[in-house]
Amino acid sequence: MIKFLDLQKINAQYEQELKEAANRVIDSGWYLMGKELETFEQNYANFCGVKYALGVANGLDALRLIFKAYIELGGMQKGDEVIVPANTYIASVLAISDNDLIPVFVEPNNKTYNLDSSKLEAAITSKTKAILTVHLYGQNSIDQQMLDICAKHNLKLVEDSAQSHGALWNRKVSGSIGDAAGHSFYPGKNLGALGDAGAVTTNDEPLAKTITALRNYGSHKKYENIYQGLNSRLDEIQAAFLNVKLKYIKKDILERRCMANYYLEHIKNPAIILPEVLNEEGHVWHLFVIRTSKRDILQKYMNDNGVQTLIHYPIPPHLQKAYRHLGYKAGDFPIAEELAKTLISLPLWVGMDEKTLKVVTDKI
Ligand SMILES: *Cc1c(COP(=O)(O)O)cnc(C)c1O
Repeated sequence: MIKFLDLQKINAQYEQELKEAANRVIDSGWYLMGKELETFEQNYANFCGVKYALGVANGLDALRLIFKAYIELGGMQKGDEVIVPANTYIASVLAISDNDLIPVFVEPNNKTYNLDSSKLEAAITSKTKAILTVHLYGQNSIDQQMLDICAKHNLKLVEDSAQSHGALWNRKVSGSIGDAAGHSFYPGKNLGALGDAGAVTTNDEPLAKTITALRNYGSHKKYENIYQGLNSRLDEIQAAFLNVKLKYIKKDILERRCMANYYLEHIKNPAIILPEVLNEEGHVWHLFVIRTSKRDILQKYMNDNGVQTLIHYPIPPHLQKAYRHLGYKAGDFPIAEELAKTLISLPLWVGMDEKTLKVVTDKI
C-alpha cells in the first residue's frame, strides 16, 4: 500500500537528532516555558520574518487566541463578524465561533480554492471586524485587492497559516503578511511536531503581549490574572523536536515542489482537473488536490490498486451539524459544495521516491 502520509518514515530521517533532543529535555528537568521554547520562538520568528512568534498548544488555539486577544484589547466584541472561506477546515471556523464572533462564509475561487477577493466586499457589514484568510493546501491566499479591502474597511487580516509554512507572497513569508497568523505543527503538517503544537506570529506588540498572558491562564506574573486565559502552552519536548525539524523545512519545501511538479507534468487524464499554481514560490504543497466528477469511483479504484487517498474536506463548515444554528442549507455556497464533492488528495510527503510517484500517476 502506498500510504497517503508515512510519518514513521518522515521522522526516521531525523531519528538521531530527535532522540538527542528528547534526551536533552528529559535530562533538563524543565518541561514547560523554557529554553527550547524560547529558541524555537526566535527561530520561527526569524523564519517568518516577524517580530513575535509565540508557541501555543496547537493551531486551533493559535487562531482562537488571536481573536480572544483582539476582544481583550477592545478591537472586537461578541457578535462581531469575521469573514472566512466557505471551504476551509473546521478549525478556522471554530476559532471564530469559540469567541462568540460570527463566521461569515465567502466562496473560494474555483481554481485556487482560496478566498475570492472579488466577493469580499459584498459580505462586509458594519459588524465585520476581520478577514480570516486560509492558505489552503499550502498556497498563499492574499492578494493586493484583499489588503486594499482590509485597509478601506478597517478590518484586521488574520492568516490561517496551518498549511503554508514558508509560502511566499511578494517576498513575504506566510504568517508575516496580515496582522497576525495562526500556525499548526500537527504531525502531518509540513512542519510537524511529534504531537500537538502551534504558534501565533505577529508584528503587533500589544497583541503579542496579550497572547503571551492569555496562553498562560491570563497571567504575566504568577498568581496575578489580568484576563480569563487558557492553558495553551507548547511543551519543551515538542519545541525541541521543532527546533530540529525547522532546520530542514526549506529543503522539504523544494522537495515537495519537485513532487508536485512531477504530478503536474505527468497526470494527463482529461477527466482530472489539476491544481492551479499562481506562482511557484507561493505554494508549499501541503496537499496535492485534484478534482474529478468521478471522485468516489477514482478513490475506490486507487484504494483497490494500493494507493491511499484522502478527501480534504468532504463536508463544508456551513453544512456541518455543529453549525446548524446558523441556518445555512445546501446550495448556499455552490462552489464550496462542488469542491467538497469532487476533490481528492494524492500522497505527497518528503521521502516518497519517483517510483512511487509514477505508480500513483499511472493508476490515475
Ligand atoms: C490543521 C489546521 C488547523 C488546526 O491546527 P491543529 O494544530 O490541528 O489544531 C487550522 N486550520 C487549518 C487550515 C488546518 O489545516
